[in-house]
Amino acid sequence: MKLKKSLGQNFLTDSFFLEKIVHSSQIQKIDDVIEIGPGNGALTEHILKCSNNVTAIEIDHRFSEKLRERHLNDNFQIYNKDFLKINLNEISFENKIVMGNLPYNVSSQIIFRLLESDLSFRHCVFLIQKELANRFLTSQKATKISIQCQLFCDIEPLFDIPPDAFEPKPKVNSTLIKISPHGKYKNMRKKYGLLQKILSVCFANPRKKILSSLKKIDLGSELFSFDLNKRPEELEINNFFEILNLYESKL
Ligand code: SAM
Repeated sequence: MKLKKSLGQNFLTDSFFLEKIVHSSQIQKIDDVIEIGPGNGALTEHILKCSNNVTAIEIDHRFSEKLRERHLNDNFQIYNKDFLKINLNEISFENKIVMGNLPYNVSSQIIFRLLESDLSFRHCVFLIQKELANRFLTSQKATKISIQCQLFCDIEPLFDIPPDAFEPKPKVNSTLIKISPHGKYKNMRKKYGLLQKILSVCFANPRKKILSSLKKIDLGSELFSFDLNKRPEELEINNFFEILNLYESKL
């Protein structure tokens, strides 16, 4: 079957890593799992062995049909749909573990769709490009997406997977990440739209002092709890909340 590069069809074929992903997902026999982009079903096979039920969402009908037939007698359902367009209310996420070796071109869109939809999944375990994982991770320099994500969840890296473990081989390394939702900033969630706006302004020039970005939104002459000579990448989420609250108070 001809694989579609446009759908990020790089399949993980190394059984050592397939096992390792499932092991680090902390699935118990009683757990239900949602898999995004099962493709040829190699990871699905491993997940089915140690979970109660798997619901998969696959955009390519050639694979969804094959998997439907292969797992007719298993606790398995599959939607032949685009995860970015599917009505998420059709699927129950309650306490489920969401997994996937995500298509590289839409990984961040998939992650943000899940986070912004405020679903009650337990945690997610996703394989994404290492470079993208580094931009999400809060232990690295702050980025627009790392701060956006922190509003909803904690993200931790689990381990890296080299290109050799895939077929066809991608040009880049991959990192398995775990996303654990938290309720730390629940009261700020209603200001998400405004936070995105503030972050876009602040990270437009990530290497410039934050003061120069603040001036663009008529701030900067006020007293802040952090040094205005710092770069946005050196700031923490609470610093951006402080900017947001001050900006909002002046609207
Ligand atoms: N799970 C398999 C594995 O681990 O080898 C395949 C992973 S492959 C990187 C990504 C899969 O996601 C492909 O099967 C692709 O067809 C599917 N996919 C791409 N875009 C999608 C979307 N928007 N919604 C659902 N599935 C998608």
